[in-house]
Amino acid sequence: AAKRDGRGAIRCFEPELNRIGVDRRRLEADLRRALEFGEFQLYFQPILNLRTHAFSGFEALLRWQHPERGLVPPCDFIPVAEETGLIVPIGDWVIREALAEAARWPGELKIAVNVSSVQLVRGNLVTTLVHALAASGIAHERVEIEITESVFLENSDQSLDTLRQLRALGVRIALDDFGTGFSALGYLLAFPFDKIKIDGTFIRALDSAEGAETIVAAVADIGARLMMATTAEGIETAEQLRGVHAAGYTEAQGYLISRPMARDAVRRLVFASDAMPEPPLEQREAG
Ligand code: C2E
Ligand code: MG
Ligand code: MG
Ligand code: MG
Repeated sequence: AAKRDGRGAIRCFEPELNRIGVDRRRLEADLRRALEFGEFQLYFQPILNLRTHAFSGFEALLRWQHPERGLVPPCDFIPVAEETGLIVPIGDWVIREALAEAARWPGELKIAVNVSSVQLVRGNLVTTLVHALAASGIAHERVEIEITESVFLENSDQSLDTLRQLRALGVRIALDDFGTGFSALGYLLAFPFDKIKIDGTFIRALDSAEGAETIVAAVADIGARLMMATTAEGIETAEQLRGVHAAGYTEAQGYLISRPMARDAVRRLVFASDAMPEPPLEQREAG
């Protein structure tokens, strides 16, 4: 079953400790070392604007370049980082690094950063963001903060207050993994999000499940009526891409369009041409 322990902001489908093969205390110590010795890296996955057929920006995705285990995905360590509170300094690093990187790209490209509910409640997210915006010098509206529905499960008043403060800075707020929470439509009432990202499970269901097409189309309609952008995540086939385009999604993201890319590959891509009209399909995530 998906990892859903109340405060986890992340949906993972395998027990992370089994895969990484160490106990929780060891992993916590390793994470502290990783932060100190700079073992974290950001990968960036392009987001395709379905109106202009150009990339609108990139989502920053955290990776851990572990000295023995290679490139470790977030599902293997973020749940423990959330439980131990280490997600706060790690998340601060992600924000600083992501904004600094985006500052090197052409100015129309956006940067999306995932933020854990633990950061919204316990961290000093607003201060971190203010400093990172100033240090990078990028326009505030280029920054998008992605939160999941789990922020509403605990301390939701405090989380909403933080979201309002972030919004007041002029950054955009996206609701990630939409449709997988307990009260998906209720969350849309609770906060005026700039964007809904429908979860990839609904996109995968297009191939098989009865009714999936109707649900996927209804979410695009809800977004349009609420004046929100809508992103379809997890696009793996041309048929899925055609489907979400026809349904009216404003953006698409997934392995068909591009895998998450290392920093240097993104730099080459964004300067290869102004418009980047042809999304590359051949990038492979290393590791
Ligand atoms: P997410 O924010 O929903 O990110 C999308 C995830 O789906 C990424 O996994 C991405 O690599 C993967 N993905 C993209 N396209 C496809 C596709 O076509 N098919 C499939 N099967 N998967 C696709 P990743 O990078 O392993 O990240 C997993 C989750 O970890 C993210 O889900 C997000 O919740 C969390 N995460 C990643 N980076 C950060 C971070 O810096 N901070 C926090 N708090 N959470 C993060
Ligand atoms: Mg995300
Ligand atoms: Mg998602
Ligand atoms: Mg997800």
